[in-house]
Amino acid sequence: MHTSNNICNRRNFLGGSIAALAGTMAASSCSHSKPDNSLVSQVELVNVSGSSIEPSSIHIKNGFVITMDAKRAIYPQGQVLIRDGKITEVGEQLKKPIKADLILDARQKLVLPGFVNAHAHLQQYFRGVYELIGNFYQVNLPLEGYRTPEDMDALGAASCAELIYGGCTTSLIIYTYPHGFAQAVEKAGNRCVLAADIEQVDLNVLKNGTYKYLPEKGEAAFQRAVDLYNNWHGRADGRITTCMCPKAADLVLPDIYTKIRDFAQEHNLPVTTHLSQTSRESKQVQKLYNKTSTQHLLDMGLLNEKLTGVHCDYITEQDLQLILKSGMGIMHCRSVGNPLMQWRDLGIRVGLGTDDYHHDMLPLLRANLRSRSSRSRRPTFYEILEMATRGGAVAIGLDNEIGSLEAGKKADIITVDLNNPYLTPTREPITSFVLYGSCRDIDNVLVDGLFLKRNGKLTTIDMAETLNVAQNRVIYIIDKFFQEHPEQKKAWESKVPYRI
Ligand SMILES: [Zn+2]
Repeated sequence: MHTSNNICNRRNFLGGSIAALAGTMAASSCSHSKPDNSLVSQVELVNVSGSSIEPSSIHIKNGFVITMDAKRAIYPQGQVLIRDGKITEVGEQLKKPIKADLILDARQKLVLPGFVNAHAHLQQYFRGVYELIGNFYQVNLPLEGYRTPEDMDALGAASCAELIYGGCTTSLIIYTYPHGFAQAVEKAGNRCVLAADIEQVDLNVLKNGTYKYLPEKGEAAFQRAVDLYNNWHGRADGRITTCMCPKAADLVLPDIYTKIRDFAQEHNLPVTTHLSQTSRESKQVQKLYNKTSTQHLLDMGLLNEKLTGVHCDYITEQDLQLILKSGMGIMHCRSVGNPLMQWRDLGIRVGLGTDDYHHDMLPLLRANLRSRSSRSRRPTFYEILEMATRGGAVAIGLDNEIGSLEAGKKADIITVDLNNPYLTPTREPITSFVLYGSCRDIDNVLVDGLFLKRNGKLTTIDMAETLNVAQNRVIYIIDKFFQEHPEQKKAWESKVPYRI
């Protein structure tokens, strides 16, 4: 009874045996664009009318709806209507009664746009090592050299699991070999802006403070970024887009920056780069060009509204004026000394990114509530949540499509179950969620109106199997690193209170 057009469209399964349909779906050779939802349990596939596997219309009913729109509208007992992957209505009441395929009872739940993680790498394999013996140059950068293109076969799904589980419906991910990760995103159903990081220094000598530039390394990295664009930009129903990422002004020479600029302009791509991240970067850029990193980017024609600079820990007052004038954005992570709210109040687009070995946005929000900048006030609970949703969407240039719950936008939505003793009782649930919430409280995650997490469980990823595969791969990677860096192994063993 299915036409070839609807076999792969989860919204179009109508009637018949749910079990038979689920079997058909698992066995069918779907096009690349839809997330693989064959792991959704049959019980969960039955909706209120019992007629459709993946509902084309969903009514999220009576939830505490935080729209994150420009008016900052909140509906404490609000309604959200989704049709064919898009939000069609949001408000206190629906305009007219409607019989949606699925009704999600959201009493005792927050309903808000999914998090936009505006800057992250895939470095989960550093966990349990870097925290113990961490040194950016001695451990972090050498460990990055242990990435291989094949790693993402084992680690890609685990990374997607982490992002989806924590409610990151959209993430800007920078990784040296992103092809395998793009495949994982395609299957998992989340939304990503992907970048292949471009650098051309020898990491083995950089750890000693020596900058040795390798032209062929830069060329190969640039080519990977071009390949990423050619192979993945706009794929998976548009869930995957790409941007360019020269890693930093001290790690990439002007000839490659120029090529990146030209390619990005030709294809209308955003550019993101670590900017004024370390004092070593600042010194090297001064030494090479006698200017700050910001001025250097300006002189190379890169400082514009398509650019975002990550960190900006060491920018000068003059740099800040250049940033303001250019319209570029800033991706902010954990540096609580940065004047986050000053930047935002000046009108700079600011996104928040986990940039760490785990990608849970809630600890990041809490870290930034403790801003210590003398130049800047602290954000309110609402403002920090806004920055993690609509602010991130604006920063990455996708705010026409995502970042708030408004009619016409994509249905990238999370719900938060308040019905636990950490979040209830409360008189103000936004404050409580930001301060005390955890990713486990995020019980539903939708992207394009499709459930990727439903009632607390991932629907497109077998989490136990995925994490087992990832764990084995990480043991292999770290063992290799230790074999070739015995001094680091010794340092690590001295910090671990047991022997394996
Ligand atoms: Zn970073």
